[in-house]
Amino acid sequence: SYRRGGYHAVKIGDQFAGGRYIAQKKLGWGQFSTVWLAYDTKDEKYVALKIQKSAAQFVQAALHEIDILSAIGDGTPSYTKFVAQLIDQFKHTGPNGSHLCMVLEFLGDSLLRLIRFTRYRGVPLTKVREICTCILIGLDYLHREHGIIHTDLKPENILFISPIDPSKDPFRSGASPILERPEGGINRNSVASHMEKRLKRRARKMSMSLSLGRGNSIQEYLKPNRNIDEIDVRCKIVDFGNACWADNQFTDMVQTRQYRAPEVILQAGYSFSIDMWSFACIAFELATGDMLFNPRAGQGFSEDEDHLAMMMELLGKFPKKVATSGAKCKDFFDRHGDLKRIRRLKMCPLKKLLVERYKFSEKDGNEFSEFLLALLDLSPEKRPTAQQCLQHPWLNAIDYAPIDIFNNQNNNNLENLNVGIRNLEIAVGK
Ligand code: ATP
Ligand code: MG
Ligand code: MG
Repeated sequence: SYRRGGYHAVKIGDQFAGGRYIAQKKLGWGQFSTVWLAYDTKDEKYVALKIQKSAAQFVQAALHEIDILSAIGDGTPSYTKFVAQLIDQFKHTGPNGSHLCMVLEFLGDSLLRLIRFTRYRGVPLTKVREICTCILIGLDYLHREHGIIHTDLKPENILFISPIDPSKDPFRSGASPILERPEGGINRNSVASHMEKRLKRRARKMSMSLSLGRGNSIQEYLKPNRNIDEIDVRCKIVDFGNACWADNQFTDMVQTRQYRAPEVILQAGYSFSIDMWSFACIAFELATGDMLFNPRAGQGFSEDEDHLAMMMELLGKFPKKVATSGAKCKDFFDRHGDLKRIRRLKMCPLKKLLVERYKFSEKDGNEFSEFLLALLDLSPEKRPTAQQCLQHPWLNAIDYAPIDIFNNQNNNNLENLNVGIRNLEIAVGK
């Protein structure tokens, strides 16, 4: 992918935007871009630099992402904190073409890392509640204030704030940011170079780190006896590459498989409520460590059909209206609303699953399944909105002041909203 139209090859110490940003280390990559930790010499802080591939369709996608990011950066201040912030944007020309670059605030690890950190055993329910509250506030903001559907909510796309302070990274000798290219530079071709090896080793250790909470040392996080309950949790929604305005959708096929809502599979049209479905899948995964739905194609049935079957096993039969309304319905359902190619279902209601498989107490199982089931309504219009969901007693069972403002559905007084969010901040110890 490091060719014309593809990624831009970056070396540690490379300068961007006339020397303002200096590359420190690679943070990640995706289909569209590589993302680098960079030092902003103007504001003297670390930032995330997302360097898009240069071909026309990637430039187009970056422009769209910048549009969305600019829109959501401009809103009620205490609300914008729950979504990624765009700091700057510029073009960078290299051997592979002209790359659009987005400068984002530097964030920490994703919920996916957190789930891995628990060895797929799940996070304590008090933490699940806190994380859910942050996600819901972010969603409520996107949906209500901007009319934006994220369309790709998943654990990877929720990042924690309060990352490790890179200057205190114990795996790096110096305490200050790299301001120029290391001696001799790092040649992509001389993979064996000493520096490269060291960086790789560090990256491997870094990739095991969990940059949550107030501490700065990676080792601190790796301590086996570290109690996950001590971690302050605050997180943000990121990755707006697939987000769209509800009234300006450009594709039917949205969402990552496991987090995909039934109406998307059935191609029955979609709205904000598809994010609520994904949110429920994330909440379940956080609490149990397992994906709620992880369908596979099998003999005589497709991945879509397996997915629909799993939904029915957990949630019951599709309402007639839903089973007949999508462009794909006739492919999957017969006229009784049964699946054509998967005839025998093993019903397993959510509460039973939580209590029997995941050993939730009767009380926890009851309350959590009740919270999730409303969101997993097979009829999209029946799902609660993010705003309504924030009022749910399950969230308010956290021992911090409930976000009262969300109790009044017609309340658009943003002053009051700030009060609610301040309560949340106090609760999470900011
Ligand atoms: P995708 O194929 O998922 O659409 P993409 O090319 O659009 O990928 P992103 O998902 O935005 O790229 O970012 C790639 C990775 O970089 C993320 O998974 C994450 O690990 C890291 N990353 C992105 N943004 C930040 C940030 N603000 N702070 C820290 N790390 C980040
Ligand atoms: Mg991504
Ligand atoms: Mg993306």
